[in-house]
Formats: sequence, C-alpha cells, structure tokens
Amino acid sequence: MEQNGNILEVRGIKKRFGENIVLKDINFSVKAGEVVCLIGPSGSGKSTLLRCLNHLEEMNDGEIRIMDVLLNTKMGKREQEKEVLKIREHVGMVFQQFNLWPHMTVLGNVIESPVRVKKMKKKEAVDMAMDLLKKVGLDGKADAYPSMLSGGQQQRVAIARALAMAPEIMLFDEPTSALDPELVGEVLNVMRELAKEGMTMLVVTHEMAFAREVSDQIIFMDDGYIVESGHPEQVFLNPQNERTQKFLSRYLCA
Ligand code: ADP
Ligand code: MG
Repeated sequence: MEQNGNILEVRGIKKRFGENIVLKDINFSVKAGEVVCLIGPSGSGKSTLLRCLNHLEEMNDGEIRIMDVLLNTKMGKREQEKEVLKIREHVGMVFQQFNLWPHMTVLGNVIESPVRVKKMKKKEAVDMAMDLLKKVGLDGKADAYPSMLSGGQQQRVAIARALAMAPEIMLFDEPTSALDPELVGEVLNVMRELAKEGMTMLVVTHEMAFAREVSDQIIFMDDGYIVESGHPEQVFLNPQNERTQKFLSRYLCA
C-alpha cells in the first residue's frame, strides 16, 4: 500500500480539446476502501477526468499516481505507455453504455480479458466468472447473449466483467443513466455491496440519494474545476459554494 493510505492521487491535471479547456487544474486523492462520488452539471468534465485516469484520454499536464504507478506528462511517450499498461491492471471501468461484446455470451464477456490478457486458465476463469455472476445476481444467465438481457442485467454483466480483472479501484461513469428507472435500483444495489466489501470506487452519478448514502467523499465539479469537496453530509446539507448550492437545489426540488 501507499504512503498516507492514498490509493489514487491526482495533481494538476489539465486537459483541453482544441481551444476548449475541459480540465483546468484537478487535484484530489482517494484512500484505499473509499467511495468517492463525482457530481456536477453536464459538460463539467467528469467523464474526461475519469477517462484521463486510465488514459482513454491523454492529459495535457499533471500527474496521476495509482497504487505504486506514476504517470505524468514529463515522461517520454514510451515510458508513459508502459505506465499506462500498469495503471490499467489496477483500474476497472464501467461505462454508461455497458459496451459488452455482442457476439459473446455473458460468460464469454466475463472470461475474455482474464484469459486473453492475464493468460488465466480457462477453467479457472470460468469458475471465477460463475462466482462473479452470482455476486451480481446473474448466475442463471451465463449462456445468454447481451441482446437477450435488460439494461440493468447488461450493466451488472459489465460490472462482473470489470471485476474479473481483479482491479484495486473501480471507476463508474454514470452507470445507471441509460437505464429505465425501474432498473436503476438493481445496479445501485450491486455497487452498494461492492462498497461494503471495501472496494475503492470513484463514481460519476446523478443519483444523489445513493451518493449521499454510500460516499466517504463528494467531489463537485463545474466548468473544469473541482469547486467543492468533502464529506457528503457537509456537501449536501451545508454546501459552501454558490455553484454547488445552485446545482443541488435542482435535485432537492425534483
Ligand atoms: P461531463 O461528463 O461532466 O458531462 P465531459 O467530460 O463529457 O463532461 O465533457 C466536458 C467538455 O469536454 C464538454 O465541453 C465536451 O463537449 C468536451 N469534450 C468531451 N470529449 C470530447 C472530445 N473527445 N472531443 C472534443 N471535446 C470533447
Ligand atoms: Mg459524462
């Protein structure tokens, strides 16, 4: 484990797309076992930040440390690429649009990376996948194809698939935003269980009740900045910044 218990540290991340500066100086840290919810209006840079963390987007400036792996923009490209591969071993990601492989069964989706990337023996991978499917409430669905499943079921497969790589930290980007309302709960329940088991999680979400209930830390982003962060009771009940107040008032009135 790391100095001061931080499993993730982010220092001075900046990211622009052309002229558009999307992340303007992002600094935060996450301790092992913490659940951090990232909230903020659409376009504030939440997805870009998550994508920078596992290098789906290349940051323009700054430094990321995940476990014992350091990535910064001062390194040469070759060195960065090596560190990115190490970072991805530690990080699992779940997207809004599940992104399952449509031509593979549920089981196939879950065992693919462990077998292909980690060279795990097939039998071992299948045993593990069956346990994970049970954990997300889908033990009867191993042979189904994604198109036969509801959105909530597909998202739970996506969670099992990410967990199959045994990540130390899980990133979720609006995992329930594409779901019909009646399917949101089953996905949040799986995430709640993961949190209880001590998984370190960074979750972009608009589910404020969930964020308030499970988070150790809330980060509010607006316009490429972290405007406010703190304990959920602090941020939800007594937000200090006017922009946080304005954002949250929309949810409290809803
Ligand atoms: P959020 O997830 O908070 O809604 P995003 O990180 O998706 O915000 O987007 C932040 C800003 O970055 C937006 O202005 C968006 O248009 C822009 N952006 C995101 N991805 C790209 C991209 N691949 N190319 C150009 N602009 C992008
Ligand atoms: Mg987003």
